Amino acid sequence: MTNTEAVEADIPFRAVDDIGLRVPYGLTVDPGIEAKVKLFAGIMRAAGIVLAAREIAADPSNKLNTVLSLLKVLVFGRAQQTIDEQIAAAPRLGCKSGCAWCCYQSVEVTIPEAILVAAQLLDPADPRRTAVLANVKAFRGLDERQRRGTGAPCAFLVDNRCSVYDDRPLMCRAMMAPAPEGCHAVHAAALAGKPLPLVELYAVAQYFILGDQSGFRGILRDMGLQDDLVELTQAVAALLEEPTLIERWLAGEHIFGPEFAPPTLEI
Ligand code: SF4
Ligand code: SF4
Repeated sequence: MTNTEAVEADIPFRAVDDIGLRVPYGLTVDPGIEAKVKLFAGIMRAAGIVLAAREIAADPSNKLNTVLSLLKVLVFGRAQQTIDEQIAAAPRLGCKSGCAWCCYQSVEVTIPEAILVAAQLLDPADPRRTAVLANVKAFRGLDERQRRGTGAPCAFLVDNRCSVYDDRPLMCRAMMAPAPEGCHAVHAAALAGKPLPLVELYAVAQYFILGDQSGFRGILRDMGLQDDLVELTQAVAALLEEPTLIERWLAGEHIFGPEFAPPTLEI
């Protein structure tokens, strides 16, 4: 179904052209798949803004819960559907609990994804708080290649498992590979300061999940909230250090500047 057909069929649709649609590295985009990713993103945006308006009209003080519920139910739910379909169709899947070579890189997230993770670290005695702050300090000023070269894992990786698994960001959900060896080879090359080899990932599933990210950013934009992508560890550290940031973000303030942008990786 094309975008036009969806609108004609009265499926609520709001394009994400103002947000843009990111393409996984190395994926040659098939126009049919691109149209489908845009369609799903547009349907999510339209549905999300209707739901948000309804919830906030019923209880204006409930804005944060509304946004986080949309993220967990609508956006993560849609991503899970993609993952389930991918797993059902995949000839091989290397991902399993305890495999974490993909957890040694920066993670780009929307602000609500960072809030969701930060909410798990409210206990001042939680050792992950120290790990987050240590990572921020260690990675300051590094580009993505240098960051990976430190060999330091994500601060939320505990005993080789994601300690925020149910709330893990979209980009973490989007990492799916037929075999762990390719992911390990990238990690080993980064540690050795060598050129990073291409890794075989399920890029089409990743593309759909990037579409979910665009749709969600569209919802945030339509709500008048900053929708920029930020680097997970840095954003969580800032949210922990300055709890008023969330209220200010909900009030429409642009709380994260360009220094919070995820580092890019030149291959
Ligand atoms: S993407 Fe690679 S490193 Fe990550 S869980 Fe899957 S196989 Fe393991
Ligand atoms: S949030 Fe979890 S899945 Fe994502 S990089 Fe960190 S440990 Fe890995």
